[in-house]
Amino acid sequence: MDWNDTQEQATFRTQVRSLLDSKLPQRYVDMGKEVHQRERPWENDRKSEDPEARKAAEDWMAALSGEGWAAPHWPKEYGGGGLKPMEQFILNQELAQAGAPTVGGSGVSLLGPALIVHGTEEQKEKYLPPIMKGEVTWAQGFSEPGAGSDLAGLQTRAVRDGDEYVINGSKIWTSAAHLSDCLFALTRTDPDAPKHRGISFLMIDDIKTPGLSIRPIIDMANGHYFNETFFEDVRTPVSNILGEENRGWYVGMTLLDYERSNIAGAVGSRKELMALINYLGTDDGKYRSHLGKRETGMRAEIADRYIETEVMFQFSFRVISMHNSGQLPNYEASTSKLFNSELNQRLARTGSQMFGLYGALWSEREAGDYVPVSFAGDYVQSVPATIRGGTSEIQRNIIATRGLGLPRG
Ligand SMILES: Cc1cc2nc3c(=O)[nH]c(=O)nc-3n(C[C@H](O)[C@H](O)[C@H](O)COP(=O)(O)OP(=O)(O)OC[C@H]3O[C@@H](n4cnc5c(N)ncnc54)[C@H](O)[C@@H]3O)c2cc1C
Repeated sequence: MDWNDTQEQATFRTQVRSLLDSKLPQRYVDMGKEVHQRERPWENDRKSEDPEARKAAEDWMAALSGEGWAAPHWPKEYGGGGLKPMEQFILNQELAQAGAPTVGGSGVSLLGPALIVHGTEEQKEKYLPPIMKGEVTWAQGFSEPGAGSDLAGLQTRAVRDGDEYVINGSKIWTSAAHLSDCLFALTRTDPDAPKHRGISFLMIDDIKTPGLSIRPIIDMANGHYFNETFFEDVRTPVSNILGEENRGWYVGMTLLDYERSNIAGAVGSRKELMALINYLGTDDGKYRSHLGKRETGMRAEIADRYIETEVMFQFSFRVISMHNSGQLPNYEASTSKLFNSELNQRLARTGSQMFGLYGALWSEREAGDYVPVSFAGDYVQSVPATIRGGTSEIQRNIIATRGLGLPRG
C-alpha cells in the first residue's frame, strides 16, 4: 500500500499549509507548540473575556470559512468545503500537526450534517449560515442520568401544546453547554411506543429560554467541560422539530462524527511521544537518575508506545481508505476509537513513570524545572476519551459482534 500523496493530494496539502502559515493567529501558533491538546480552544476563546482570544477565534473561523474548510464535509451549496474524504483527512492531519483548533463545535460536526439531510428549506436557511460564520454554537443534549450507552432509554418528555412542545426532564454530560448559544435534544414524545420509536429531535434555538438551566460539572482534572441541563416547562415551537415526530432516533443517528479516522488523535499521540523521546535523548542525566535500574524496562516501554503510535496511524489510514472507496467504516472505526483512547492512557502513564516522583506533578507550571511536560495531568484527562462517543466496552461489543461475528450475549 502506497500512503504517499498523489499529485492532487500534495497540491491540496500545500494549500492547507499555506493557509496555516499565513492565517493561523499567533495565539494558536503558540498553543500548537504545547505538547498537550486543550479541550475545545476555539469555543472557549469565542466566549473569552480576553479580547485577543476572541479575535483569534473570529479570525481563524473567518480564515477557514473563506476556503469552505470550517465545515469541510458539508456540501459547497451550504457553505462547506464539499471535500472528498481524503482531502478531509489531509486537512485534519495538517490542522492537528500544527495544533490548530477546529472550529464550529457540535453545530459543524453534528447538527449541520443532520440538518442537511433531514431539515426543511426554512430550517437550513435559518440555522446553517450562523453556524458557518461562527455566530452561533450548539450543545448536544442526548445523554441522561439513566440513558448513556442505552441512549434509547431516555426519559426527557416533550408534550405538544398547540404550536409548541413543552419539555421537562434533564440531560447530563452536556459538553460546552455553558459556552453555547443553542441546544439540540432528543426527547420522548410517545411514552407508549417501543423505545426507539417514541423519540423526537428538537432544536432549542436560545439556550436562555425560560425554564432551561445549566449547572456545571467539575471534572476530576478540576476543569469545567461538561454540565447538567435541566428542563422545566421549556417551550420550543413545533417548527423546531428536525425530521418527523417520533422519528428522532433515526435523525439522531445521522449525527455521525464525520472525522472517524481519528487522525487528529494519531497525530497528537505521536507528537506527545516524540516530545518525551527528544527530552530523554537530550537529557543531561539529571532526570534519568530517577530511573536507576528501571532504565532498561522503561526503554522497552517507550519502544512499545512507539510501535503503538505507528499502529494507530495504520488504523486511521484503514478507516480513511474505506471512506475513500465509498465504504462506511463500522467496527473499523470502533477499533480506531478504542485503540487511540486507550493508547493515550498508556502513553501518559509511561510518561509520568519516567520522572519518578516528579512525574506525579500535575501541571507544567507546577512541574517547573523538573518535568518538561505534565503526563500526570494528561493521564487524568485521558480517561473521558474512553467514555465519550461510546465507551470502550461498547466498542469491544461492536468489534466482537459486527466485526468478528460472535454471538450477542
Ligand atoms: C468527555 C465527554 C463528553 C461528553 N459529551 C456529551 C455531550 O455533549 N452530550 C451528550 O449527550 N453526552 C455526552 N457525553 C456522555 C456520553 O455519551 C456517555 O457518557 C456515554 O454514552 C456512556 O454513558 P454513561 O456515562 O451513562 O455510562 P453507562 O452507559 O451507564 O455505562 C456505565 C458502564 O457500564 C458499561 N456498559 C454499559 N452498557 C454495556 C454493555 N451493553 N456491555 C458492556 N458494558 C456496558 C459501560 O461501558 C460503562 O463502563 C460525554 C461524555 C464524556 C466522557
